Amino acid sequence: MRAFQRCVNPNCQATFDVAEVLRRCPRCGALLDVDYEWDKLPVPKSLAHFERYWAERSNPLNFSGVWRFRELLPFAPEELCVTVGEGQTILRQSEEVGKYVGMTTGELHLQYEGLNPSGSFKDNGMAAGTTHGRMVGATSAACASTGNTSASLALYCSATRLMKSIVFVGSGKIAYGKLSQALDYGARTVQIQGDFDDAMARVQEVAQRSGVYLLNSLNPFRLEGQKTIMFRVLEALRWEIPDWIVVPGGNLGNSSAFGKAFIELTKLGLIKRAPRLAVINAAGADSLYRLYNDEGLRWNGGNVDQTKIDAFYAQMDRENRRAHTIASAIEINRPVNLTKCLRALDFCDGVVRKVSEQEIVDAKAQIGANGFGCEPASAASVAGAKRLVDEGVIGKDERVVCILTGHQLKDPNATVAYHGVDRELYEKYLGSRGVEQTPFANRPVGVENDIEKILALMK
Ligand SMILES: *Cc1c(COP(=O)(O)O)cnc(C)c1O
Ligand SMILES: [Zn+2]
Repeated sequence: MRAFQRCVNPNCQATFDVAEVLRRCPRCGALLDVDYEWDKLPVPKSLAHFERYWAERSNPLNFSGVWRFRELLPFAPEELCVTVGEGQTILRQSEEVGKYVGMTTGELHLQYEGLNPSGSFKDNGMAAGTTHGRMVGATSAACASTGNTSASLALYCSATRLMKSIVFVGSGKIAYGKLSQALDYGARTVQIQGDFDDAMARVQEVAQRSGVYLLNSLNPFRLEGQKTIMFRVLEALRWEIPDWIVVPGGNLGNSSAFGKAFIELTKLGLIKRAPRLAVINAAGADSLYRLYNDEGLRWNGGNVDQTKIDAFYAQMDRENRRAHTIASAIEINRPVNLTKCLRALDFCDGVVRKVSEQEIVDAKAQIGANGFGCEPASAASVAGAKRLVDEGVIGKDERVVCILTGHQLKDPNATVAYHGVDRELYEKYLGSRGVEQTPFANRPVGVENDIEKILALMK
């Protein structure tokens, strides 16, 4: 058994076969990891090993930005690996966005995961997750989603015809770009009266009672696919380690996967040091921020203080505090992967910050103006980097990689509202959320249908 599932709780450490369908550890309820007996596996001697696959792009597994690193997520036989061409993403240095953030040396890099087939980083995880679904013979798969997971699941299921997809979304809580994808790809789409956390609770019960395969981010196989975002960042930097990875935090699957990637690369001797990790919450959805910074919650060798977490959520419920942010992809009260994220923060000497709606939409406009449009949640990474440079936590000359998690077209309302197309839209998306200014707005100009007047605008 070279790949297996292992409980992350160090006092339990129960292991399970890779072919078992589990959602949490059946013994203690903690999250599960996919783990490997690395000493029995053909582990590459250096990361440059993976460059040989560049020449073999006609093999779909080598074309895939996920599976060309398959020796680092070896849980499935090659013939079962699912790919629709995910991970053809790029890392671009952006001096302009770097200046906005306050950097002096132009070493700000944007990892653009919006280029994935469904337009978000979720495809990295879905390639791996549907592969596991296939290994266990699943005929239908479900997720709860703020939108991008459902879009990704729907795409993978319709493109591969391996299973039916069922997606649960909170009613009125999903950007239309994302909802349209789920519908277009033919997913059975269930709108629950409630928010993401309600949808998440229900879909787990559905999986429990109906046997449908669950592809939420608590699925540890998904996180294996998301590790490859970090492998591609290192690849783009010619295997040099950046100083910082900055990522928005919602359910904390990405940050957890990044941490696992660096833990494993270190253990395998493939890197000498890990970058530092900054996880950025929206101020309107700041459970991790509060737990980490105000409550002092830590990984603590795996002995995470569950009473602190329970008390925090109980108080949240008593005060009826609900996540509320324009960054809908991170509008989450109870992040599913909290404990794994704490492990990542611990290993990568991490920090957690929160950013306001104003900071998010301004950063988004700067990212767009410099060629990489993204959705609001993604811009939290750049807004967070700016905050950390202002605080002096990130040095102005350090090498920083911000993850742009999703494509601009996922949520066009947020963009046109910012650029001042329509007063009502502005009020609905920005004004009502406390965004008072739009310093980087690119307003459309109205003009009479008159060639002279139009020409006058060309100056
Ligand atoms: C899912 C998602 C996030 C949040 O990622 P987590 O892994 O849940 O923390 C951020 N941005 C976008 C665009 C997403 O789709
Ligand atoms: Zn356990």
